[in-house]
Amino acid sequence: MTSKLKGRHSKEIHGGLDPAEHRGAVSVPIYQTSTFAFPTAEEGAARFAGTSAGPIYTRLGNPTIGALEECVAHLEGGCGAIGTATGMAAVSTAFLAFLHNGDHVVGTHPLYGPSRGLLEKYFTRLGVASTFVPAAEHAALAAAIRPETRMVFVETPANPTLDLVDLEAAAKAAHAAGAPLVVDNTFAGPHLQRPIELGADVVLHSMTKSLNGHADVVAGIVVAREPKVLAALADVARSFGFTMDPHQAWLVLRGIRTLGMRVERAQANAQAIAAWLEGHEAVEWVRYPGLASHPQFELAKRQMDGPGAVIAFELRGGVDAGRRLMNAVKLITLAVSLGGVESLIEHPASMTHSKVAAEEQLRQGITPGLVRLAVGCEDLEDVRADLEQALAAVAAAAPALAR
Ligand SMILES: *Cc1c(COP(=O)(O)O)cnc(C)c1O
Repeated sequence: MTSKLKGRHSKEIHGGLDPAEHRGAVSVPIYQTSTFAFPTAEEGAARFAGTSAGPIYTRLGNPTIGALEECVAHLEGGCGAIGTATGMAAVSTAFLAFLHNGDHVVGTHPLYGPSRGLLEKYFTRLGVASTFVPAAEHAALAAAIRPETRMVFVETPANPTLDLVDLEAAAKAAHAAGAPLVVDNTFAGPHLQRPIELGADVVLHSMTKSLNGHADVVAGIVVAREPKVLAALADVARSFGFTMDPHQAWLVLRGIRTLGMRVERAQANAQAIAAWLEGHEAVEWVRYPGLASHPQFELAKRQMDGPGAVIAFELRGGVDAGRRLMNAVKLITLAVSLGGVESLIEHPASMTHSKVAAEEQLRQGITPGLVRLAVGCEDLEDVRADLEQALAAVAAAAPALAR
């Protein structure tokens, strides 16, 4: 029944659940068990042989985790998904499924720091080379592809600059070379962007962010367009032990039930805050895909159902003013992460992207004064009032900076 639902909210609320399969339960039960009894030796053998679909052992599959996988695969328009312990386990699963010694990867920058770190620190050890091109320059992406390129890996909107990758163009360039396009869709999430519809082969998430949305779980997932790729991803995740726990899966599934409501409310807040910041005298620049001043505003409208809730901006007075602002906010929490119901603020150059060398940060557009604000679902007036009092504190502490 749920596979026929068209509306995004309906899919989020009902995806992965058939009450008849769970004694009428309207919330998928938590199957908190490590292993499953086989009714007969023959049935156990059939499950191992793959000729019967029943459960075997939780690392290999579990009904609660399965419900979450079905729900997210459905939201993304994929054939199936594999839940993982963390977002990084999802990234690792995709990389290990596609990359062999001698292969080459084209990635965009900026990327989530540890994802690039995996390629530069660990996959180089395994004989895999990588090239990184600016997210917004799709001609550069096509030009970087070599005969031995076996994966194109992109993140859009990119963290923390909010540059966009043209997903249709990236898929065409990757496929022309016979390479899969893998998209980290954590920032936008499936409510706002579905890369498989635009040609991606694999979509992955840190479900720690908007899918769960309550800052109380770390988790990840990889979604495949084709069954053959799904089987390869599943084998990696199960063999390396990247798979998730049933209780964790249940929490994320509960979070997804309100995904659209949370994302749309946070986005409406972010749109208003971004416009207000852009008009504020203490602000040097604002980057947000929902503002006409974003260089890829048209692309955002074409490939996304909304600009999301993360804003990058810099104050007049740069890094010092930004630090004062982060120390002065009261409602907004100074913490990394995003996509939750609570507003969070952080400083990429010294926090999330501090492992990126200073010159490389600049090349990627991560200026020392860039502040990242992940807007939450509080009342808009309260978020704006908090920023207002913090900006007043910045101006009072250093009047010269505010000018
Ligand atoms: C947070 C994040 C990750 C990593 O996820 P974890 O759940 O922390 O392992 C990967 N990619 C992006 C874009 C993220 O924001």
